[in-house]
Amino acid sequence: MRAIRVHELGGPDVMRLETVADPSPGPGDVLVRIEAIGLNFIEVYFRTGLYKTALPFTPGSEGAGTVVAVGAGVNDVAVGDRVASQNFTGSYAELALAKADRLVRIPDGLNAKDGAAAMLQGMTAHYLATSVHPLKRGDRCLVHAAAGGVGLLLCQIAKRLGATVIGTTSTEEKAELARHAGADEVILYSQVDFVEEVRRITGGAKVDVVYDSVGLATFLKSLDCLKPRGMLALFGQSSGPVAPLDPGVLNQKGSLFLTRPTLAHYVATHEDLVWRAGEILGWVRDRSLKLRIDREVPLAGVAEAHRALEGRRTTGKVLLIP
Ligand code: NDP
Repeated sequence: MRAIRVHELGGPDVMRLETVADPSPGPGDVLVRIEAIGLNFIEVYFRTGLYKTALPFTPGSEGAGTVVAVGAGVNDVAVGDRVASQNFTGSYAELALAKADRLVRIPDGLNAKDGAAAMLQGMTAHYLATSVHPLKRGDRCLVHAAAGGVGLLLCQIAKRLGATVIGTTSTEEKAELARHAGADEVILYSQVDFVEEVRRITGGAKVDVVYDSVGLATFLKSLDCLKPRGMLALFGQSSGPVAPLDPGVLNQKGSLFLTRPTLAHYVATHEDLVWRAGEILGWVRDRSLKLRIDREVPLAGVAEAHRALEGRRTTGKVLLIP
């Protein structure tokens, strides 16, 4: 099969399209012919070495397609099933393995592109809005990078739960997309001080929760946007990792809560996975949650796709098509 391989850490060009042996399913594994691959920022971290993995490797964890073989002990997934997962071992490929309990069926009416676009960023938006800080009517939230992959979905889900949504984006074009996704207000955070703007918009009350995927550039100021006992959910680091923090700062700024969550812990059981994926895919199917596909790129174009994601030139989801 053809797959993207990384033999050394570095920039986008270290990702090379190669021919490698087809994987074969061991006990509990399912082999899927991948029809659409979801690109995610975490693959930048593995490629550059910020997150560690052994070399060489095939990047990617999200994808969707059709089951072509199952390993011993797999009874509830069969050849021909249409499935999606955020837990493939190397999804930048024509074939990929996942554990059977890490797969969900793609509902009728949706295709592999929907599945690959919705799983990882959709379930991330879901756990942030329903579990990290369960939003309720009247809550105010701040969503950084509101026109990004997670951002556009999180704006929609926060609105659906009745919250007032303040988004941040770097450009007016992105702001317009965030407004379409339900943001009540959008702050151009590279042009104005977003703390001052949050104060102004909320009449000084500030917000209940900040969903911060930007990290280094926003983290400390995000704390200043919170009302006493508010929650900062730092779930990413698109601008770089955050420095260590003295917990006393949380006291001084209003008995704040800080969490650094990751999706894996919020879909740790098969039941949680089926619940979150079921809601997200169900909302996509009934069109109450809109996926925005920024671009579809062949595997050979993966380097340019990474450059666009890192260069803030994407909005919504980037798909690779094997
Ligand atoms: P996005 O589509 O949000 O892309 C990143 C966005 O971040 C950019 O478009 C840009 O928006 C903004 N940004 C701000 N500063 C920078 C910078 N210096 N360089 C690049 N981008 C910048 O990506 P995703 O939705 O895929 O992921 C967002 C973040 O969330 C990532 O850090 C990712 O790792 C994390 N994540 C975490 C998960 C978890 O469970 N913890 C799960 C999924 C994602 P703008 O131009 O508007 O500023």
